[in-house]
Amino acid sequence: MDWKKYALIVAITIGFILGLGVGAAAGKSAAVLKPLGDLFIRLMRMIVTPLVIITIAAAVAQIADLRRLGKLVIGMFVLFILLSALAASIMLPAALSFGPGVGVGLKPPAGYTPPTPPSVVDLILGVIPYDFVDIFSVSGLLKAIFFSIILGLAVSLAGEKGKPVARALGYLSDVVLKVVTIVMWVAPLGVFGYAAWLMGTYGTSILVAYGKLITLDYSVSLAFFFIVYTIVVALSRLNPLVYWKNIIEPALVAFTTRSSAVTLPVNIRAAQRTGIPDYVTNLVLPVGATCHMDGTAMYQVLCAVFIAQAFGITLDPTLYGTIIVVGTLAAVGTAAIPGGGLLMLAMTVAAAGLPLEGIALIVAIDPILDMLRTMINATGDVAVATLMARILEGPKWFVKAP
Ligand code: ASP
Repeated sequence: MDWKKYALIVAITIGFILGLGVGAAAGKSAAVLKPLGDLFIRLMRMIVTPLVIITIAAAVAQIADLRRLGKLVIGMFVLFILLSALAASIMLPAALSFGPGVGVGLKPPAGYTPPTPPSVVDLILGVIPYDFVDIFSVSGLLKAIFFSIILGLAVSLAGEKGKPVARALGYLSDVVLKVVTIVMWVAPLGVFGYAAWLMGTYGTSILVAYGKLITLDYSVSLAFFFIVYTIVVALSRLNPLVYWKNIIEPALVAFTTRSSAVTLPVNIRAAQRTGIPDYVTNLVLPVGATCHMDGTAMYQVLCAVFIAQAFGITLDPTLYGTIIVVGTLAAVGTAAIPGGGLLMLAMTVAAAGLPLEGIALIVAIDPILDMLRTMINATGDVAVATLMARILEGPKWFVKAP
């Protein structure tokens, strides 16, 4: 057994459990440990945009066969949308029948101003960078993706002259991943700091007030996570246990950092350990980090229903379809940052004709919901990547695994 390979996962797990314990014991004063988490997040944010740009451009440039590239891109998006729509459709009947918001009677805090939902035009234009500098912001990763796909295509189309650039991009992505390896040694500390802070801040009191909402969110989301991803991985012919073992590390990082973007580097390492070919990993994971969020799709639907119930509004069944479609699209457009889904909630709530003030009801507990949805968002990308590897490489793709 190669202990070195597992040392980091063990250290992160210990950090997580210790953090929860310290947070529970210290209560609100555990907030002094938050800077440890901030330190880790900063290091990850530092590397995430170069990582996205280089890995995607390298992956696109290296797939010389444009038909193969088309198959990968289309297949990936079809799976992303299907899974998120499934997630949203499962949550709707659960939320309607369990009634987490019935009788809540909570009032939005005084002075709260509801956000304005983004328009569809804004969302589409938002994918295209305003200028070159605009590509580098972590909260706008879609722009980095847009740029790097075009860059990769250009390298491919440049023929002979593009070949050295494609090779250089390949080497560069190895180097950037080494930076990730260095930064990862801070992960146990970061996870410890954030787990303590979150536990100390949200502890048990809030769990009681919003008990039904949190219980429903966690039960349905976890059921989806374990059942659906096991099926997806089984369809790829990989033993699902290999998947579950390898995603412990990204799962814990996502749960505590609440950012799919920050988790991306760790996710890429997990996919590599699973044996997914690099060209699949390097495209599916960075794009999935921003465009594929099953946890967020479930959250959008759940919160819309919760808000309706909290205000005593009966949702017309004709709106069910709208909530699922808009909830799924809102998840696609959500930035991979903490609370990104909360910002997009305005879109789903407005589409369902509900008062936007209702979003204020969610704000207080959003971090608790964000932890789990981010964990599902991030790890779901690795599941999709296994299936894309199966589709492109045939049923024995994992035989070459390290
Ligand atoms: N925090 C989530 C993520 O990074 C996005 C969300 O808030 O729904 O995946």
